[in-house]
Amino acid sequence: MASGWARDGAVQDQIDASVDDAVKRARSCLPQGNSLTHCEECETAIPEARRKVIPGVRLCVNCQTNLDEQQANRSGYNRRGSKDSQLR
Ligand SMILES: [Zn+2]
Repeated sequence: MASGWARDGAVQDQIDASVDDAVKRARSCLPQGNSLTHCEECETAIPEARRKVIPGVRLCVNCQTNLDEQQANRSGYNRRGSKDSQLR
């Protein structure tokens, strides 16, 4: 019964940390809530196909691309220059 309270505490810490981590990762990848019919940024209509493919989508293709680019640049990975040819 009293087989090491310190160890139990450490395990709980680990669980908390990994749950925290998973939640953070899930939040950064998956937008919360329902898909929007119109872009949050520019109010362009978001095609139904796009909403099906990306549950919880909130941005149109253009705004999402811009956001992705910003995040890519922020993380030090620069892939500018190829987005136009990829989208069309
Ligand atoms: Zn937009």
